[in-house]
Amino acid sequence: MADVPVRLPSPLTEVTDDRLARAGVRLYLKRDDLISAAFPGNKWRKLSLNLEAARRAGHTALLTFGGAYSNHIRATAAAARVFGFSAIGVIRGEEHRPLNPSLRDAVAAGMRLTYLDRAAYRRKMDPDVIAALHDRFGDFYLLPEGGSNGLAVRGCTRIPAEIAEPFDVICCPCGTGGTLAGIAAGLRDGQRAIGFSALRGGGAFLPAAVEALQQEAFGIPPGPPAPGPPATPGPPGPPASAGRWVIDDRFHFGGFARRTAELDRFIAAFAARHGLTLEWVYVAKMMYGIYARAEDGSFAPGTAVVAVITG
Ligand SMILES: *Cc1c(COP(=O)(O)O)cnc(C)c1O
Repeated sequence: MADVPVRLPSPLTEVTDDRLARAGVRLYLKRDDLISAAFPGNKWRKLSLNLEAARRAGHTALLTFGGAYSNHIRATAAAARVFGFSAIGVIRGEEHRPLNPSLRDAVAAGMRLTYLDRAAYRRKMDPDVIAALHDRFGDFYLLPEGGSNGLAVRGCTRIPAEIAEPFDVICCPCGTGGTLAGIAAGLRDGQRAIGFSALRGGGAFLPAAVEALQQEAFGIPPGPPAPGPPATPGPPGPPASAGRWVIDDRFHFGGFARRTAELDRFIAAFAARHGLTLEWVYVAKMMYGIYARAEDGSFAPGTAVVAVITG
């Protein structure tokens, strides 16, 4: 993988902001959005060990699943091109022409698209559906929807491990929860993680999803419950640190890929103050949540918070 221009460790920068200073909170940005021009943010962390595994096993094609607006589809297409794999994207629902920008990018990178209706898509990991895909496309390395599997989780453990600066809390946005699962497993003593759900109702399914992904990655048994006053308690799990996380699902702004005027105002104000336009599907919702938690006293004065800019 050394032949690809990636910037690792990703940079850590400090944000100076009155709103946070009043709460005694120090905020750092872990700029995973700067890892590579070719791969949006955390998708590099999730793909890299999978690509190594695919190559080692002699696969020449990648196949994965996603919605029509999936960043993972686009990232997989880009990664396939850079690493010399062919790529097949299985998209939920019907084909819509013209293609949206996400799918257009994927096709431009050489990805072949195919579509599954919603009922078939729900069964996408069933052996008969996979077998039918093999009949059509031949051999491929299968990446699950959103790219979250055990190797993806292992890739994300490097995020906290790269941070030399002392910190207390690390925050990331959540879609499938794979990034959070890895971050939590990479914490040091005394550190904890908060995952901000970009989906409505994430508190209902993300805890189990994160736990299952940690099991897949590390085979860990259940451990002690997460400490602290969570919005939704995270489940347990060693390696000791793996259980120290919670899901906050209050900041979805109407649900996945929905936005509100309030969120847009926050993005504009943040850009004006800090010169960074936050990605709105995931990152801006997390950042809004961090500011809200700082202002409602959820962080003790003196808390150092890292926000992972995943894209
Ligand atoms: C895909 C994506 C996420 C979600 O990561 P999960 O591991 O699925 O929780 C978060 N942020 C950005 C910018 C993404 O593209």
